[in-house]
Amino acid sequence: MARKVKCTYCKKDGTNETFYKEVIKGKNKYFCNQVEYELFEMNETKKQAETEERNNLIQWIMDEIYNYEKGMVFPKTLNGRVSKLLNFYPVQVVKEAFVNNYEVLSWAIKNKDFSSEFHATCYVMTIVEGSVNDIYLDFKRNQQHIKKIEVESSKVDTDLFDEITTVSVISNKNNKDISQFLDDDL
Ligand SMILES: [Zn+2]
Repeated sequence: MARKVKCTYCKKDGTNETFYKEVIKGKNKYFCNQVEYELFEMNETKKQAETEERNNLIQWIMDEIYNYEKGMVFPKTLNGRVSKLLNFYPVQVVKEAFVNNYEVLSWAIKNKDFSSEFHATCYVMTIVEGSVNDIYLDFKRNQQHIKKIEVESSKVDTDLFDEITTVSVISNKNNKDISQFLDDDL
């Protein structure tokens, strides 16, 4: 007997007899069709890559800026404030904000006598948050620039194609003219 199931991708209702089934992490999952299953998988892969990027960034901050030994707890305030930035800014923008201030930040962590980890983090994040917008605006300008170059280069391709087509049309015409000329001569 058909059982009511929900599409894992779009949440639509259906039955186990009409829906597409995949076993994911040992569990039966249903989808309206195979295309939706593939979309779902693509989203999952993207989410995993994003999580990995975030973890790498946090690890990098601990290793390079805080100089923490492996196994030390990541400061909660720092985690919270970095996550807050990552909710809006792309991970490479946030990383660049740390990289650009690397000298200042690592010097401060080593030499300034912060009364607590909390104060150190406030200092670090004030500097990072202070430069993140400039980096983000540069990043957006670059993206637009890349887009513009892509549009222009695809335009050049079509122009070139048009030119080739025109040339071949002309040369065809010439051939014909010559053959007519030859015919006339015979
Ligand atoms: Zn669906």
